[in-house]
Amino acid sequence: APVAPRRPAWLKARAPIGENYEDVHGLMRELDLHTVCEEAHCPNIGECWNHRTATFLLLGDTCTRGCRYCAIGKGKPKPIDEQEPQRIAAAVAHLKLKHVVLTSVNRDDQADGGAHIFAESINLIRQQLPECKIEVLIPDFDGNWDALRIVMDARPDVLNHNIETVPRLFRKFRPRANFYQSLELLRLARDLQPSIVTKSGLMVGAGETDEEVLTVMDALRRSDVDVMTIGQYLSPSGDHWPIDRYVPPETFTWFREQGLARGFRHVESGPMVRSSYHAHEHVAGL
Ligand code: SF4
Ligand code: SF4
Repeated sequence: APVAPRRPAWLKARAPIGENYEDVHGLMRELDLHTVCEEAHCPNIGECWNHRTATFLLLGDTCTRGCRYCAIGKGKPKPIDEQEPQRIAAAVAHLKLKHVVLTSVNRDDQADGGAHIFAESINLIRQQLPECKIEVLIPDFDGNWDALRIVMDARPDVLNHNIETVPRLFRKFRPRANFYQSLELLRLARDLQPSIVTKSGLMVGAGETDEEVLTVMDALRRSDVDVMTIGQYLSPSGDHWPIDRYVPPETFTWFREQGLARGFRHVESGPMVRSSYHAHEHVAGL
């Protein structure tokens, strides 16, 4: 087997400490809610939670797909929990979050892919904490654009849908997804609600070339995407898709410049960047 590249010094996580961290952690257990921050062992958890930004995982912790890079369990999910939006809104209000990201597993078992749970969560958060910025990081709904409309009609502040990788790697990296379908989703989101910020991201170090990253930027701009995130891919375990390379910080800086030159309004690019990292800053002033 090939030897995995060594983890470089620039990928150091800060320890999750601080008052807000404890507060958030306790509440999640109490309300039986899942956060991506915890489930994905995100290295930024201390920083984000102390800045009152968190990413909730809606629709359960079991996914109907099995992307090769993802740590979330694959299998037959539990029935939809229709009370979940109430608990999410209660948590967001209690924590006085400044920016909340709502995301979910893929629920290909559901007619609307769970879109109504996104919409209800947005509506209830708006009622309880109107000043909180709401970002949704949605799955592709398997190309069901009625589901997309349900989410857009609830008017989130930011519509985020990750492209994740370059088209050449899609078939193996994301076997059940389609590069062009995701571009279409982003274009349609823009057309449905022109004033809502659209955002997409990808992970690098999974086998793509730098040139291919630029091609993806061009494609996203053709869908008029506003904000882009680029971060280092980290393999969740030895059974997952392996890391191809650690992209050096200067390359991330170069990606950022290339993105801005292509007209993105904001590009968050760096080794530790995750789709929701510094999420509140991506929309500041947009
Ligand atoms: Fe949570 Fe996203 Fe921050 Fe990670 S980057 S801790 S997933 S909000
Ligand atoms: Fe993970 Fe999303 Fe793929 Fe499901 S669709 S396996 S949650 S990346």
